Amino acid sequence: MTIPAPAAGTNFIRTLIDQELAAGKHATVITRFPPEPNGYLHIGHAKSICLNFGLALHYGGRCHLRFDDTNPVKEEQEYIDAIKADVRWLGFDWGAHEYYASDYFETLYAYAERLVEKGLAYVCDLRADEIRAYRGTLTEPGQESPYRNRSVAENLALLRRMRAGEFPDGSRVLRARIDMAAPNLNLRDPVLYRILHATHHRTGDRWCLYPMYDFAHGQSDSLEGITHSVCTLEFEAHRPLYDWLCEALEIYHPQQIEFARLNLTYTVMSKRRLLELVNEGRVAGWDDPRMPTLSGMRRRGYPAAALRTFCERIGVGKSESVIDMSVLEDCVREELDRTAPRAMGVLRPLKVVITNYPEGAGEQFTVPNHPKEPALGSRTLPFARELYIDRDDFMENPPGKYFRLAPGREVRLRYGYIIRCDEVVKDPGSGAITELRCSYDPATGGGETPDGRKVKGIIHWVAAATAVPAEVRLYDRLFTVSNPTADKSRDYREHLNPASLECLAQALLEPGLAGAPAGACFQFERLGYFCVDPQSTPARPVFSRTVTLRDSWSKVADH
Ligand code: ATP
Ligand code: MG
Repeated sequence: MTIPAPAAGTNFIRTLIDQELAAGKHATVITRFPPEPNGYLHIGHAKSICLNFGLALHYGGRCHLRFDDTNPVKEEQEYIDAIKADVRWLGFDWGAHEYYASDYFETLYAYAERLVEKGLAYVCDLRADEIRAYRGTLTEPGQESPYRNRSVAENLALLRRMRAGEFPDGSRVLRARIDMAAPNLNLRDPVLYRILHATHHRTGDRWCLYPMYDFAHGQSDSLEGITHSVCTLEFEAHRPLYDWLCEALEIYHPQQIEFARLNLTYTVMSKRRLLELVNEGRVAGWDDPRMPTLSGMRRRGYPAAALRTFCERIGVGKSESVIDMSVLEDCVREELDRTAPRAMGVLRPLKVVITNYPEGAGEQFTVPNHPKEPALGSRTLPFARELYIDRDDFMENPPGKYFRLAPGREVRLRYGYIIRCDEVVKDPGSGAITELRCSYDPATGGGETPDGRKVKGIIHWVAAATAVPAEVRLYDRLFTVSNPTADKSRDYREHLNPASLECLAQALLEPGLAGAPAGACFQFERLGYFCVDPQSTPARPVFSRTVTLRDSWSKVADH
């Protein structure tokens, strides 16, 4: 587990760029964020987005949004739209610089012919499994393909026929002609193009030949004049190929720089697995509030600013680490503590009747919306004879240091009076507690304690007649173990947390929450931060718990 260093504001990439700029190597800094539109963005992508757009902002350069759409089988417009919405929501703007690798297909194909003409690429008829077998291993050199020494003319003719659709999928590929004995396996005549008779979401049926990632990515960077192509460490071993291709093609050569990807506990971040969770109905969709996706976190109520703070706090380095989910949750708490108005909500209601409060009477308490931010204003809370409190705030036979309500004991109602529990009413059949009969001390309104007596407990409440019935969804972590993929002998899905969602259908909220718009976030006093779910309607408000008030997993005693 890594304890992130406090935000230093800088990182090794900035140090490097500072040196380059001082040496006059670049006139400006151009970065890019290059998602493949085959899924929704997750918090790992946020690290890359904050880094790439952050560099552009810091140096007054720009950051391109480039869709790396070279695999028509897995890519969809839905993902493109979602990715754009997520990057914008995170707070970044690519202006006019929205690009698609598919817009470069013609140029990339011309590059392929150029390599063939230089004798640096050839058409290979080996099947995929044969190519793999010929590739060798880390300890053994590979074997040259029998098609490696085809003439330029034959290669060119075959490549053109591949493009013209004369051959079936998988029958031939175009490979770079580099070195089958290279210690780096990526240089052992990597595949550059494959035949795929598939309809592309942007280019339709125009192509049946699609470039591989390694042939599309660096060449797209070059075409866009990217100065710093920042990617995650698993591409370090691809850098020699990236460099080789730029040199072989004699095109502008951006610089690839690798950093450690974000790994987070209690979740999974591979798009393949996230897609499985969605397709198998194990979550309610890509934007399920338990997902590590940006759309899930947005729906959960995580503020974009909290994600940016998180990305800043974890820093950018070269060594692999795993960040604890609580670091992210702390960023969310910090942001919401500053910005979320306070409110009262009762999740599991227990009726309280104030027997000495006149029937039909009522009053309004004016209370602040935020204890530290007067600018957030105030609101009124109706008080009356019949109230609800949370069941958790009453115990019939409490232990010694229990400061909430119990028979014969006193507690303060937040912003209101001190009440004492005089009688516990039970259902004669089940014995379940149905109501508490209490009395209030009229001298203690508005937080006053005229006689200075000590009442340690303060509990939240709502007035029965004016309370708003709502559904409250309590979300917990999606997995029960910190690294669900660590144990290779078990499927990560075995570690799904069966209690990751608890729906409370009978919650009661203070009246002001009735019309709160989707996305609005509140602190329900003593309970945590909650936000209005998009499924909420005025007739049926739905709130989701964004995060508890403090890390409930860190065993801090609550009372
Ligand atoms: P997959 O899960 O299918 O391997 P991916 O997460 O790499 O996909 P891309 O769409 O290729 O998805 O990612 C776009 C960019 O986001 C890449 O530059 C990649 O390096 C970066 N990225 C992806 N995951 C992380 C992560 N966990 N931490 C930091 N950056 C990431
Ligand atoms: Mg990828």
